[in-house]
Amino acid sequence: METYDALLASITPTSGPTRTILDPATGEAVGEAPVHTVEDLEHAVKAAQEAQPAWAALGHEGRSAAILKATEAVERSAEELAQLLSREQGKPLNGPNARFETGACAAWLRAAATTPLEPETIVDDGGTRAEVHYRPIGVVGAIGPWNWPMMITVWQIAPALRMGNAVVVKPSEHTPLSVLALIRVINEELPEGLVSVVSGGRGVGARLAEHPAIGKITFTGSTATGKAIIKSSADTVKRLTLELGGNDAGIVLPDADPKAIAQDLFWGAFINTGQTCAALKRLYVHEDIYDAVCQELTAVAAAMPMGNGLDENNVLGPLQNKSQYDIVANLVDAARNSGARILLGGNPDTDQPGYFYPATLVADIDNDNPLVTEEQFGPALPIIKYSTVDQAVAMANGLDVGLGASVWSSDLPAAREVAARIQAGTVWINKHGVVDPRIPFGGAKQSGYGLEFGVEGLKALGVPQVING
Ligand code: NAD
Repeated sequence: METYDALLASITPTSGPTRTILDPATGEAVGEAPVHTVEDLEHAVKAAQEAQPAWAALGHEGRSAAILKATEAVERSAEELAQLLSREQGKPLNGPNARFETGACAAWLRAAATTPLEPETIVDDGGTRAEVHYRPIGVVGAIGPWNWPMMITVWQIAPALRMGNAVVVKPSEHTPLSVLALIRVINEELPEGLVSVVSGGRGVGARLAEHPAIGKITFTGSTATGKAIIKSSADTVKRLTLELGGNDAGIVLPDADPKAIAQDLFWGAFINTGQTCAALKRLYVHEDIYDAVCQELTAVAAAMPMGNGLDENNVLGPLQNKSQYDIVANLVDAARNSGARILLGGNPDTDQPGYFYPATLVADIDNDNPLVTEEQFGPALPIIKYSTVDQAVAMANGLDVGLGASVWSSDLPAAREVAARIQAGTVWINKHGVVDPRIPFGGAKQSGYGLEFGVEGLKALGVPQVING
């Protein structure tokens, strides 16, 4: 087993320009990341092109066996990976955070290796036999964000590899070390050049999105960048899977039990300290139970320790970077100035090092307040009162994004009826943001298109080919 120091040393560049990555909890250096250029990208693309045909030729069985070995490598290094992730991203080791994320990496790799995908016979009537097969695309580009850097990289690369593709990964410039370390570990079991990481900035991402040798981009990040990628990829008619921003609504129906749902509501909103695409970002509560829900949620949130991620006691961490901290702080200040009521938090300790913003609950807030209409992507939840279910559904559907949503009720059939009226890629009932490698996940409206996970996720990383005859 490798130590944390050995893992970090193995990804530290020995030549070329580097950038010091700082711990968002302390401001201290975590490590040095390479600063790759479009020239490095060209090398990675060439290596991927060379490695891909032999990988494709292994077939599903051979590729699955290699991916399973890579899964075991991740499991062997899980603790060291979690330590690095915690230092670089800020998320605590404990709670649904860093160890949870490395566990998810193994789970999604294993699922990609073991999900069956057979050719589909569409017509077989004696005269015509038509089958759909899924062929490798070639080289896939994976561009990712900083909030769940390891898990999202696996979401992108695992199905791509299973389907016979090579991958060039472009991690966020905020969290390159986590992705470099993860891929270094995975590469212990994969052929050279098949997966490489180009640790560059936005320009490198833009070049990847327009590169003629790249057949598909899987992108997870903001809606604004997603739109830029659609444009960059147009000239080469690239396939795209876009998992973009969200502003998920939760609707609490009048028959819900405030005490029973408070803990799940909290984690639905505050998982990864709110820096989660499909986190609950606007909570609509019926007026009959509004005060009770506010009270129970405040009690749960007030008891959650926030601090340095390496301290086992903590379950909430800092914001990952200064710009995200400023977004959250400005939105809460604006909400307060508009007359909204701060139930908890909203009072960061500015003398403390690190980008810590306390868990914040904001009540009596208008539905058109920016804390409601913009993606806060941090630990600040607006709670909006409603009178009729029609009104709640209209407010939930009132934005141009639709990643996830949730309905909370003791009456499952009633909750399902409300769920069917919400414009979102996933609607959870009595939970929020719970993803599963067997269940397809994707956005509606400007939260993106294409599905990840399960058999649909595998198909998305292949080129459908019909054999008719
Ligand atoms: P971002 O869009 O700023 O950056 C994401 C990645 O895109 C980075 O690697 C960045 O370098 C790269 N990039 C930037 N400009 C580019 C360009 N013109 N061409 C190609 N690549 C470019 O997003 P972020 O701030 O890192 O992540 C937060 C956002 O991601 C939030 O909106 C969140 O909701 C969203 N997100 C969505 C999902 C999902 O599954 N739908 C999951 C996680 C995060």
